[in-house]
Amino acid sequence: MAIKTVKFGGSSLADSVQIKKAAGIIKSDPARRYVVPSAPGVRFAGDKKVTDMLYACYGVARNGGDVRAAFAEIRNRFDGIIQELDLDLSLEREYDEIIENIITRRRNMPYGEPEKISSNYAASRGEYLNGKILAEFLGFEFVDAADVILFDENGKLLLDESVNALRQRLDGAENAVIPGFYGKVKDCSYDKIVTFSRGGSDITGSIVANAVKADVYENWTDVSGFLVADPRIVDSPEVIDTVTYRELRELSYMGATVLHEDAVFPVRAAGIPVNIRNTNSPECRGTFIMPDLDDADIPPYIITGIAGKKGFASVNIEKTMMNTEIGFCRKVLGVFEDSGISIEHMPSGIDTMSVFISRKELDGREQLIRSQIQESVSPDKIEFEYGLALLAVVGRGMRHTRGVAGRIFSALAHAKINVVMIDQGSSELNIIIGVSEECFEEAVRCIYAIFVDTK
Ligand code: ASP
Repeated sequence: MAIKTVKFGGSSLADSVQIKKAAGIIKSDPARRYVVPSAPGVRFAGDKKVTDMLYACYGVARNGGDVRAAFAEIRNRFDGIIQELDLDLSLEREYDEIIENIITRRRNMPYGEPEKISSNYAASRGEYLNGKILAEFLGFEFVDAADVILFDENGKLLLDESVNALRQRLDGAENAVIPGFYGKVKDCSYDKIVTFSRGGSDITGSIVANAVKADVYENWTDVSGFLVADPRIVDSPEVIDTVTYRELRELSYMGATVLHEDAVFPVRAAGIPVNIRNTNSPECRGTFIMPDLDDADIPPYIITGIAGKKGFASVNIEKTMMNTEIGFCRKVLGVFEDSGISIEHMPSGIDTMSVFISRKELDGREQLIRSQIQESVSPDKIEFEYGLALLAVVGRGMRHTRGVAGRIFSALAHAKINVVMIDQGSSELNIIIGVSEECFEEAVRCIYAIFVDTK
């Protein structure tokens, strides 16, 4: 029989109503055997995520405040869920232990650890408690992530060790709930809890899917998958039916977010597809994230998605006979490297080159960069251009289809949008376009329209 690992995000488990929906989804398919929950998320605009409340509680402890009082709100939130689910479960012992640990762990931190690490224990308790409740409600075994998700002493995930620990622990377990977001340092003298970065339950789900050799990793959230474009820009954009891991990387890098970036590796390594699903619309098929597909697969709109970001600047350099000067580009790039500035793109002409960088990285260092470039390559002209946006049109379908670039640029021309930069990677998987920030939204809308609306 098929095995599915299912992860439910914070909005899918924010209260008893959502937990009942999630449980209904789990119970409707016996293949959904391994469940990874997040901590309860926000229930309404202005509400707090339990994880944020826990970080705040840690802050109270750090400032010598009353942790018990700060924890009361969290306790109420969980007790409310338990009551509404009509469970015969008490978490009193767990609450007391958590409060005690938040207070004493602070004092007992053995190596005067940075706050980033020492707050991890507190932050992880939302998943821990929610996991206990969900396991009880489903009648599934509770497996503490601290026993199976392992990190090294620098907080780096030990993937192979975690997969082995999970396999041993889940051997013979028909069903289990394994809380997301945290694990512990392997071979440490005490239970030193480490969390992933925010949104990290996605990573736990991916590791569990790898360990149980799942046929699919279902990631249940509050949207019906990846959308072809940002819904804040395009009105009701279509859902992407299938996206490859490579396309996803391009789209996420340029700002599309649904899945934690680090969640891809464990499932990708095992060739397991990820299916993004909507807890509030389980009838939608969602988006499948797949290993590379064969050439016969052409997505319905040729392009798979459009993503982009504002906040870029370009440094434009001109020098006559630049093309004959060996090492010119290297010297220019060396200036950015020495300043620790990461570059995004580097389009070039015969006697010109431009370097696109994030505006934030440049702030306050313009003069330094200018003088260092001057010194290293003596250009005729250096110019800084601000207020740029980059957008990426991504799609495996572009590789074998003529006229894609033509359609993009004629759509932009019709909308009277000036293109500042074009960059097509050798993979032919994406075309990156630079426009001014004011034109960004319109550029996304007109490219969406030409490929999707007028398909
Ligand atoms: N609860 C954690 C967060 O809010 C982890 C997660 O939800 O994936 O970031």
